[in-house]
Amino acid sequence: MTALHVRAAVSDGAGSTVVRELTLPDTVSRLRVESSAVCGTDVMLHQRGLRAPAVLGHHTIGRIDHLTEADAEALGLEVGTRVAVEEYVGCGRCAECRAGRYRLCPSVDLWTGGERVGMIPVSRGSGLHGGNAEYLELSARHALHRLPDRLTVDEAAWTLPLANAVDWTLDAGGVGPGSTVAIIGPGYHGLSCVAAAVAAGAETVVAIARTSSAHRLELARQLGAVTERNDDPDHDVVDVVRETYGPLDAVIDTIGRPETMASGLRMLGRFGVLVIAGLAGGDVALDPTAIVRNLVTVRGVRGRSPQAVERAIALLAAGGTGLERIPSYYVPLEGVGGTLRDMAEGRAPVTPHVVVDPWLRVTDPIPTESPKEIR
Ligand SMILES: [Zn+2]
Ligand SMILES: [Zn+2]
Repeated sequence: MTALHVRAAVSDGAGSTVVRELTLPDTVSRLRVESSAVCGTDVMLHQRGLRAPAVLGHHTIGRIDHLTEADAEALGLEVGTRVAVEEYVGCGRCAECRAGRYRLCPSVDLWTGGERVGMIPVSRGSGLHGGNAEYLELSARHALHRLPDRLTVDEAAWTLPLANAVDWTLDAGGVGPGSTVAIIGPGYHGLSCVAAAVAAGAETVVAIARTSSAHRLELARQLGAVTERNDDPDHDVVDVVRETYGPLDAVIDTIGRPETMASGLRMLGRFGVLVIAGLAGGDVALDPTAIVRNLVTVRGVRGRSPQAVERAIALLAAGGTGLERIPSYYVPLEGVGGTLRDMAEGRAPVTPHVVVDPWLRVTDPIPTESPKEIR
């Protein structure tokens, strides 16, 4: 039996990450990681969210590098296939798994003590259970989606946030051709929601943020959104939105603060949908009159369906998302800890598309963050 020696960024869940060499035996299947995009959950897990040290990274793209016979048969995939890896490793036996809703399987539900790719302890098996490593251990229960080879590394790295955006904006929010929608919080997921809405043919997409996020509003504009600020003391953003764009069909709140949810609700017209996709929290009282009078639906969302992943891949392959215009900030394994700490302390890179490239060496020049020219 041979084994691979694999470099991995191991995080302790208390704000520290070190690069270690872990061993992956040939008796288990593996993915050669191409990219591991960073989301807000990683920042939380890195600073205070892990029960035990783990390799973070749950928005993983890569190529199948080795498969046991049993896994090849169960997954129906071959070595060499490029895939997006969902973080949900469902049990495969419960009612939710059997219905294809493995994101709700108790064994992956963080609210009931479950765990996912990017937080499974490094002490288990090879320890390689997150994207922030050269290789990721695979099993027959991993949820993998084929990716076309023609997608660039940048484009492919958007697969899972765009899949979340498809689930939240198009499926839960009902946004489609001719819709009017506001996206509150144009961060990593908010910009993906803008891209999904534009690609789905929405007529008006309003990106809303504070003045301190002006650079992210500019990125939203490049994707096709109009933008408004929600901290102008002289103008209530609800009045501005209603007067300029009329009552909206949907609002996707990626922040989930009391004030963003309350203002989102007031922007909606009849049969409007308020999608709550952020968990900033706080005591919230949504105005029942606004809900009842306009027959509004308030929906919570968690992750995404497998169908949303497939639709996101189709959108990326069709080339209409514009996400390639968003600059990517690549981080080597040695930079994972510092970058996640910076993000936790409000010193995030200007672009919200932060991607770990486990093959980038610290001796390589780190790409500087300069927005790519468009047009
Ligand atoms: Zn995430
Ligand atoms: Zn299950």
